[in-house]
Amino acid sequence: MIKARLLLPTIILMLFLLGGCSAQPTEIGKKAENGLLDLTQYDLKNQIIPLDGDWAFYWNQLLEPDSIEKGALDGYFAFPSSWNKYEIDDKNIPGTGYATYRLIFTTSENEILALKIPKVRTAYRLFVNGNLIATAGTLGISQNAMVPQYLPQIVSFAALPGDNEIVLQMSNFYMSSGGLLSSILLGGEAPLLALRYNGLAYNLFLFGALMMMGIYHLALFFFRKKDRAPLYFGLFCLLVAIRTLMIGESFLYFAMPNLDFVIARKIQTLTYYLGAPLILLFFRAILPDYFDLRIIKTVMILSIAYTAVVIMAPTNIYTAINPLYQIWTIFLIIYLFAMLLKIAGHKEKNSILIVLGGLIMITTVLIDTITLSPWINDSWPPLLMMIFQGDANSSTGQLIFAVLYSLLLAKNFSESLEYRTSMGEKLSEINDHLDDLVATRTRELTTANQKVEQQNFELEQINHELQRLSLRDPLTELWNRRKYDETIVLEWQRCLRQQRPISLLFIDVDYFKNYNDLYGHVAGDATLIKIGDTLRTALSRPTDMVVRYGGEEFIVLLSEIKKDQAIQHANRLRKKIEALAILHEGSVIKNCITISIGVATLLPDHHCHHEDLVKIADKALYLAKSTGRNQVVYLDK
Ligand code: GH3
Ligand code: MG
Ligand code: MG
Repeated sequence: MIKARLLLPTIILMLFLLGGCSAQPTEIGKKAENGLLDLTQYDLKNQIIPLDGDWAFYWNQLLEPDSIEKGALDGYFAFPSSWNKYEIDDKNIPGTGYATYRLIFTTSENEILALKIPKVRTAYRLFVNGNLIATAGTLGISQNAMVPQYLPQIVSFAALPGDNEIVLQMSNFYMSSGGLLSSILLGGEAPLLALRYNGLAYNLFLFGALMMMGIYHLALFFFRKKDRAPLYFGLFCLLVAIRTLMIGESFLYFAMPNLDFVIARKIQTLTYYLGAPLILLFFRAILPDYFDLRIIKTVMILSIAYTAVVIMAPTNIYTAINPLYQIWTIFLIIYLFAMLLKIAGHKEKNSILIVLGGLIMITTVLIDTITLSPWINDSWPPLLMMIFQGDANSSTGQLIFAVLYSLLLAKNFSESLEYRTSMGEKLSEINDHLDDLVATRTRELTTANQKVEQQNFELEQINHELQRLSLRDPLTELWNRRKYDETIVLEWQRCLRQQRPISLLFIDVDYFKNYNDLYGHVAGDATLIKIGDTLRTALSRPTDMVVRYGGEEFIVLLSEIKKDQAIQHANRLRKKIEALAILHEGSVIKNCITISIGVATLLPDHHCHHEDLVKIADKALYLAKSTGRNQVVYLDK
């Protein structure tokens, strides 16, 4: 962790050091006045001096050194600057056109010096002391007549003691503003070359690093298409890498001198226009909660519209709409700033690197946007211009961002690899013991199953018993009244269907209250059991049913038994009870237990009900009781 903390500032510091290590021009504080610059007291061979100040300016004239004296001088104007800032006859001159600049500088010695000429808008010829020493593109007095070219270069010449004359012819019909935006530097060949090589080296370093980052992230996307963030990020890195080659020392123009100016400009502009939506899409992909889809869509639509204009329109038209896009970019930068600060405020997981990188990047983009915008360019204080003039700030910022984001990815990868490894180990451990585990689990399951089966069996038995109990009288174990109620309905229906008679004997023990009083309840119960057993065993057919109807009352249901048979059965049962000879000294009619029986027989039809059977038998029983007891009485309805 400590190492990681150290790594971060080291990388950032290294990048800025690399960028800033080039030799810097000397700020001499001396400017040309009226086209004259006295440099006699400077050691020009070992210094780099910007040739800034007021240069003589000839508008709409391309003058050769030998004819410049005859030219119509329009005045002395600030250099470097885009010439559309100049006022001639109280009017700003247009950005497109052609002109000649002239400066006379004084040196003290006869020596070989060099000039470092930046990008010039958009073609030039440069003479020193009457000799043509540098050109870029082809000059012309109309768009068709000229060929534009950007070619920053260093040229040497022999300086004479005394006055030296620089004549610079330029024409521009390709950019919305003409002239040049950075200084022409004068100095020894060696320090100027060092300046250029350092610049080139740094640009190439940025280009290589950003290309690698870009390709790496595109590869990440290629292997895992689910996550779009690396795609946007990779494309953004590639865009910035390409742009890096076209700004500053502009290695691309040096490597490909024949590159078409218009196409190159379009590519450079597009890298800027397409960058905005890509970076926003990237942020939305990794932190979707913070970035409003509507804003992203607006950015994309605008960017596509601008891209279409850039592809279709000529250079000087789309460079004119550039400022609008720059204002829009500044709004987006402010939006991104706010969101990044919000993310930092919420302390989102792993967001420090993203926020830090994002802030560095957009700050550098902001600096570049502002310094490159045509209004600021000419009006900024020279010191600020000096600091930020290397227009590769945003490339450096993007590289820092890419490095920080890669650190985050590296951290995430390591963590998920670690997680996978430990999960893998756990899994193989489980695999190793899988057989044992399965065997144990199977044993446990079998035991549990057996237990459940046993419990089911017991439950079934209990259920069975419960059902049996619910239909049996607990004392005599005869059927109870509930069973009778169920059975009579079915038997009645059956006999109704088959037109068979059905008979019912209603039995009541005589003077049983007295019996209880005399011998006690326990003896009474025993007697009831005996009577029940006797009744049951006396009947042989499976359909014959003996029921304890209540107290000492019993019902015998005899299906398919006619009246005579029923009376026979009743008498047989009465005799069997009497034959038991259970002593009953409380009985008024005999000194043993006797029963009275009411008999009823019906042929079921739709006019009568099974309850009639009990009613008639009950009536018959009442008759038997009231006319002497220990007898059978039959009643017809
Ligand atoms: P009768 O029927 O001849 O007119 O005279 P009874 O004395 O039998 O009169 P009743 O039918 O009114 O009396 C029934 C008696 O049966 C009352 C009660 O003491 C006795 N009893 C009813 N259920 C049980 C029982 O479960 N166990 C015992 N021990 N006695 C019972
Ligand atoms: Mg009774
Ligand atoms: Mg009784």
